[in-house]
Amino acid sequence: MSDVLIFVIVAAAILVIGAVTGLVAFINGRRQPPRRDLPSSAPSGTITEERPPEAPEPGPVTTLERPEGTAGRLVRLRQRLSRSQGGLGRGLLMLLSRDRLDEDTWEEIEDTLITADVGVAPTQELVERLRTRMRVEGIDATTAPTVLREELITLVDPTMDRTLATDPTDGKPAVVLVVGVNGSGKTTSVGKIARVLVADEKSVVLGAADTFRAAATEQLSTWAERVGVDVVTGPEGSDPASVAFESVRAGVERGVDVVVIDTAGRLQNKAGLMDELGKVKRVVEKQARVSEVLLVLDATTGQNGLVQARVFRDVVDVTGIVLTKLDGSAKGGIVVAVQRELGVPVKLVGVGEGADDLAPFDPETFVDALLDQS
Ligand code: GDP
Repeated sequence: MSDVLIFVIVAAAILVIGAVTGLVAFINGRRQPPRRDLPSSAPSGTITEERPPEAPEPGPVTTLERPEGTAGRLVRLRQRLSRSQGGLGRGLLMLLSRDRLDEDTWEEIEDTLITADVGVAPTQELVERLRTRMRVEGIDATTAPTVLREELITLVDPTMDRTLATDPTDGKPAVVLVVGVNGSGKTTSVGKIARVLVADEKSVVLGAADTFRAAATEQLSTWAERVGVDVVTGPEGSDPASVAFESVRAGVERGVDVVVIDTAGRLQNKAGLMDELGKVKRVVEKQARVSEVLLVLDATTGQNGLVQARVFRDVVDVTGIVLTKLDGSAKGGIVVAVQRELGVPVKLVGVGEGADDLAPFDPETFVDALLDQS
């Protein structure tokens, strides 16, 4: 090969290498990250945000729900109850407004009350009071609504203390045990109670101690997640008392206001129930006082509900009743009957399957709903 040819090849090679190097440098130059200078047009004090290239993609955002406050719940309580219970109030009002209140009419009034689950003794009391007022003041179509309203409120007993004990004492959380048979709406009520507490700006830990019903733990965890409260759970079939213990421990450690514990609702026999709930209460009380024992009763079960109430009354010191499913076919008189039976107030009522369908029980709102003629 001639010297000239070698020279040409070397020169060409140098040119090719130079071109490639230049191209790579050009490409690299294009890959430089953009500068983060604020644009000159940006007014001073304006921050233009730029996500750094290495920033991770944001994960799925859990949107916390904002539960409804008490005022809205009472409005709904009245609407739902007047829809489901209006028959009782309207029936009584019609009878009392008759021109002549003869023995047959008084009997009809008694029957109406007994059919509505009010119970025999409270029915007789109410009729006696109405008869007295009839003799003394006279009742006619104009005065009947007022008289009946007053007497029904007295029957439901506005003097009972219906507040929930949910304030911490001595730096320890209030502990609310929720008891009742399976199917009464216990777990749902614990979830709804958590929402009421969150709406009242209380900090809450839930204890899923109904370890015998497979779905209960999952159900309660979902309720907790939706309002952003912690829940302590245990494996299915584990000792409810140990879950209750751990939940109160978590509540004490985290300094929360309230621990609400869902308990197992197997009504196998009285002795078994007593052992189980007795143990739960004992272990809880090693750490904090139990401030409320709420008994959940399905209002649609009528007399059966009263039988359950008696069993629980003998096993634990019930401090309040949660009456569920008052929106359905339940008869409102059960409120009076169960309070009489246990000597403790109905504190909360369930009026639907919706998350905020639980309201504090208020005698006047209840009676107004019964008498609602709209
Ligand atoms: P538990 O076995 O006692 O824990 O019962 P759950 O909490 O699972 O409730 C049983 C059923 O009753 C569920 O379908 C609930 O949605 C329903 N439930 C609970 N409270 C109410 C209420 O106030 N009204 C109506 N209509 N249904 C309710």
